[in-house]
Amino acid sequence: MFWQFFNSRRDIIKEAKPNPAHKTLASMEESNDLSFIVTQNIDELHRKAGSKNIIEIHGNIWDLRCESCGMKDRLEKTDGSPVCSVCEEIIRPDVVLFGEAVRRLDEAIRVVKSADNILVIGTSSLVYPAALLPYEGKVSGANLIEINVERTELSKDVDYFIEGKAGETLPKIYNIMKKL
Ligand SMILES: [Zn+2]
Repeated sequence: MFWQFFNSRRDIIKEAKPNPAHKTLASMEESNDLSFIVTQNIDELHRKAGSKNIIEIHGNIWDLRCESCGMKDRLEKTDGSPVCSVCEEIIRPDVVLFGEAVRRLDEAIRVVKSADNILVIGTSSLVYPAALLPYEGKVSGANLIEINVERTELSKDVDYFIEGKAGETLPKIYNIMKKL
């Protein structure tokens, strides 16, 4: 059942295309205007858009892991069977499931602490510990800019709030920025 659920999620995600916000972030990185992306998304759309420095704190739905022997694989390199090629135990998608610890948190904290500006895009700011990351940056001196369709718990503490869909606002803002 678990594998059926993940296979159906993957079928949906496979068809998903990066939106203009994903693409803008990728071109920002390309132009050295962006150092890192820290994301809770497991859909790999940032990678599809061309971003390289991505910290996926909830893992990635295309990665596989064996809890018995530690084997790691990519789904597309396998025949799709849920059995470990090394020890023949059942393997799992290498994503963070409810109640499990997030990945690469130390690295994410280091990144936000060294940031001058942090864009917080399209998150509810309710899922911990990810919701703490903007604050880690703020106490280290970063400006916080939130882009969201509505105000969140974080909004009262940001330096600037931009209301709207990131796919619409971010490309416009970056175009203006480039002309400054
Ligand atoms: Zn194994």
